[in-house]
Amino acid sequence: VKAQGRGNYGFHTPELSAQAAERLELEARLRQALGNEEFLLHFQPQFDCVSGALIGCEALVRWNTPDQGLVPPTRFIPLAEETGLILPLGDWVLRTACRQGMCWLDAGLVLETIAVNLSARQLLQPDCVDCIEQALTATGWPAHRLKLELTESMLMGEGDEVEQRLQALRALGIRLSIDDFGTGYSSLAYLRRFAIDELKIDRSFVRDIPAQRDDMEIAATIIAMARNLKLRVIAEGVETEAQLEFLRERGCEAYQGYLCAPPLTPEAFAARFGPR
Ligand code: C2E
Ligand code: CA
Ligand code: CA
Ligand code: CA
Repeated sequence: VKAQGRGNYGFHTPELSAQAAERLELEARLRQALGNEEFLLHFQPQFDCVSGALIGCEALVRWNTPDQGLVPPTRFIPLAEETGLILPLGDWVLRTACRQGMCWLDAGLVLETIAVNLSARQLLQPDCVDCIEQALTATGWPAHRLKLELTESMLMGEGDEVEQRLQALRALGIRLSIDDFGTGYSSLAYLRRFAIDELKIDRSFVRDIPAQRDDMEIAATIIAMARNLKLRVIAEGVETEAQLEFLRERGCEAYQGYLCAPPLTPEAFAARFGPR
């Protein structure tokens, strides 16, 4: 521990201060970014495992900073969640994704669903359902074509409010998917309690197929469980033909991953999948 002046406590190390300063700057820039229209969405297509048909896409947010270029969401979503900025940002993502879906629809590119990631912070807002309904009304995107991706931890230990909100979303026709399935808490009771439509197998269980037998067992078990529970099942992070073949053989319905396409700009998405 370096020598410190009076009034400096142990945790005020120079490194920590530098980290804290960097965080504060990131936070300040994040606040401005929404007004400066520095965010954009990329869309990763999702396919039917058997027919190979395009069935939808997942909207993934990007931050295009003036000086550092594209910043990945893993670097700013956690901070946005902590600071509450995820609320206006999440609303922007939802509306922009729905608006994009309408644009594509008008151009003859029909997507069964657009998936949008919903953060815990959003779901814990009392007016969460109203916000989402308003976004649908404002954009015209049909509720049954919207899929919200939630994580397991959002469903654990939450009170009746969350349960009621999810019921209300379902009542609107919105579909609910459990993102990163298998990486969260281990209780499966929530599958019964909440009206879920889909399980999304986390990339970590797909990545090492076929080298890791344990991962293959886990992926196969999730697929079997989903099917037994009459839930849809989609795999993320599919990068090889061998992975796709394994998933298809085990009965997985849908997938997304670099094998077919990374997240694409709206222009690239339309160029590849739109009508000619
Ligand atoms: P996620 O929801 O699990 O999204 C999947 C991530 O895997 C994306 O990273 C995607 O680009 C990446 N990916 C897709 N296919 C492959 C593949 O074949 N191989 C590999 N190696 N990676 C693949 P991305 O876009 O960097 O997003 C990271 C995370 O940030 C997301 O993980 C999600 O948790 C969060 N995120 C992104 N957009 C939003 C948003 O609008 N709202 C919220 N709340 N979170 C978001
Ligand atoms: Ca996701
Ligand atoms: Ca995921
Ligand atoms: Ca994941």
